[in-house]
Amino acid sequence: MLVSAKEMLTKAKAGKYAVGQFNINNLEWTKAILQTAEELKSPVILGVSEGAGKYMCGYTTVVGMVNGMINELGITVPVALHLDHGSYEGAKKCIEAGFSSIMFDGSHYPIEENIEKTKELVGICNERGLSIEAEVGAIGGEEDGVIGGGEVADPNECKMIADLGVTMLAAGIGNIHGKYPANWAGLRFDVLDEIQKLTGAMPLVLHGGTGIPADMIKKAISLGVSKINVNTECQLAFAAATRRYIEAGKDLEGKGFDPRKLLADGTAAIKATVKEKMELFGSVGKA
Ligand SMILES: [Zn+2]
Repeated sequence: MLVSAKEMLTKAKAGKYAVGQFNINNLEWTKAILQTAEELKSPVILGVSEGAGKYMCGYTTVVGMVNGMINELGITVPVALHLDHGSYEGAKKCIEAGFSSIMFDGSHYPIEENIEKTKELVGICNERGLSIEAEVGAIGGEEDGVIGGGEVADPNECKMIADLGVTMLAAGIGNIHGKYPANWAGLRFDVLDEIQKLTGAMPLVLHGGTGIPADMIKKAISLGVSKINVNTECQLAFAAATRRYIEAGKDLEGKGFDPRKLLADGTAAIKATVKEKMELFGSVGKA
């Protein structure tokens, strides 16, 4: 059964570890992430961007697939199904479709409008026992065609949004989506520290987890980050393993063209990446 992310993140913040959000793109992705979470006894958050939701034939298809897998695979660890960077309309659709958690990304609205829309969605989520993530200060890089400039959030604005009753808060601290450029300046720990001081027990979210060095991840967790989003890294691992399979000519041997064989190495690579992240984030054995 899907659960809200509230309890797992409250425990993570108190226990000084983070729960990974791993974005899903298809059946193989979902299976690989759920199986790894179960094997490692780790709570997990499955992230779905609006683009990936569309690709997988809509939110109700996603809910059906994930619920079916939880049953068929006998998954016992807490699993939250979370809309990633949702629009106002997308958030409402996911709530109706049966997601257990949503992110409303109102960071591109003026702060007053972000507050107004976040407040309305907080009300709906509280009523239904769902968790809700809000964002202050756009995360840099590109996410489904939306390009952000890598802003650094204003801690006072973070406090204003946190006070609306959101479950967790994503704040831009110099992090970006996708691969990090060679001249990246690193995370703004001074800002993160200030945000945590103002928002207290609120679990903080770090987007763009791909390519942030392990020591920075650990420091961010020590400063209140309890949810870390991973997307690009699983994609790169899947693509590299699939490339190796094809380049080795394995698809031409016997029934190597069978999709269950063709996609097996890539799926195993996703599992290995998820395992590595769960170990780094400290969520192993916390389910
Ligand atoms: Zn993000």
